[in-house]
Amino acid sequence: MGMGDVSINSERLWRRLMAMAEIGATPGGGSHRLTLTDEDEAGRQLFLGWCAERGYDVQYDQVGNIFVRRAGGNNNTQPLAIGSHLDTQPRGGRFDGILGVLAALEVLETLDDNEIETDMPVDIVVWTNEEGSRFQPAMMGSGVHCGVHSLEMVRSTLDDKGLSVGAELDRFGYSQGLVPGARAIGQYLELHIEQGPVLEDSGTVIGAVKGGQAIRWYELSLQGQETHAGPVPMAQRRDPMPALARVIDLVYQVGLQDEAARSTIGVLTARPGSINVMPGRIDLTVDLRHPLETRLKEMDAAFQAGLDDLQAAERKIAISLEEIWHSPVVLFDHALTEAVRQSATGRGLPVQDVISGAGHDAFHMARAVPSALVFVPCRDGLSHNEAEYTSPEHAAAGANVLLDVALRVACAR
Ligand SMILES: [Zn+2]
Repeated sequence: MGMGDVSINSERLWRRLMAMAEIGATPGGGSHRLTLTDEDEAGRQLFLGWCAERGYDVQYDQVGNIFVRRAGGNNNTQPLAIGSHLDTQPRGGRFDGILGVLAALEVLETLDDNEIETDMPVDIVVWTNEEGSRFQPAMMGSGVHCGVHSLEMVRSTLDDKGLSVGAELDRFGYSQGLVPGARAIGQYLELHIEQGPVLEDSGTVIGAVKGGQAIRWYELSLQGQETHAGPVPMAQRRDPMPALARVIDLVYQVGLQDEAARSTIGVLTARPGSINVMPGRIDLTVDLRHPLETRLKEMDAAFQAGLDDLQAAERKIAISLEEIWHSPVVLFDHALTEAVRQSATGRGLPVQDVISGAGHDAFHMARAVPSALVFVPCRDGLSHNEAEYTSPEHAAAGANVLLDVALRVACAR
């Protein structure tokens, strides 16, 4: 069976995307299915109903990850798993995550429709809480599966109403499931909307994701001494605000060193926060990213050297910097990613290599087993938004690429 000989049913895929979007539908045309809510569970049950029509074996684990299996000829081999997530952001979109799950179902059903027996089993995985909106951290289910987070830790995580992940897992019966990680996966594929404008801008249909950015997060504080805005002469004040101006300039200089670099100040607090009080302390966060680990290290060094220079020049304030998180660069499997490119080329779909600027469950999986991530365009690069849209043609193109790669991987003997 060669690539492109069979194709998924694009009309069925679109119909199901639209049916799923009805659960938690929002007035602005999006979906609202926060993780482990009644709406999220209803979405899972709709999906499982479609799986039941085909008689696929279904299991779940204690963090609520769902595993659907289409058996192969040799079920002692570890499966190829294709997955993503069904939860959404608040007033989120209809495609982020959902496309990956329903395209995976298309792959299994297309194998059935064409009476193709694979050698290894082919699984669908629905990961719990990819979005990280109601409960943090994001990519929770895949993180627990891969041993990055403990089940105990995530069970004790609370939402803003004080409800725990554990209580919600118990409520839906997931706590009766398999021990997380017990379900082996040999290789992993994921289709996702790009969530950025690169593919649309270049007229490309398929993004072969080479990797994900390396990320460093910092907390930075500038300590001075608060005082009344009027009585103290400027030269005698210990005001951290002029130093903040230089810090902001430094951070964005670091991020503008080359096109692939990113720098962001996302949180900024001046205390006590009163119009006639000079702040005694300013706290801010800094997020630095680059797809090359060595370049991120250079950005880190430039940032720290710039702060040292600033501290030498501004003796009246104390600058302190703490790195609070480092996520190393993620690299996807060369052979699987090459199969993605070949499938796209074989189907006449424009393809280009891209770097993922957002996190995905595939990041956790890529550190554990050979994995590939496939992107399709989304209109105006919009996601986490009710207006998020990918066309039926692009959704089908992505699902067909998954199908081709699955045929190549799972039929190899
Ligand atoms: Zn997603």
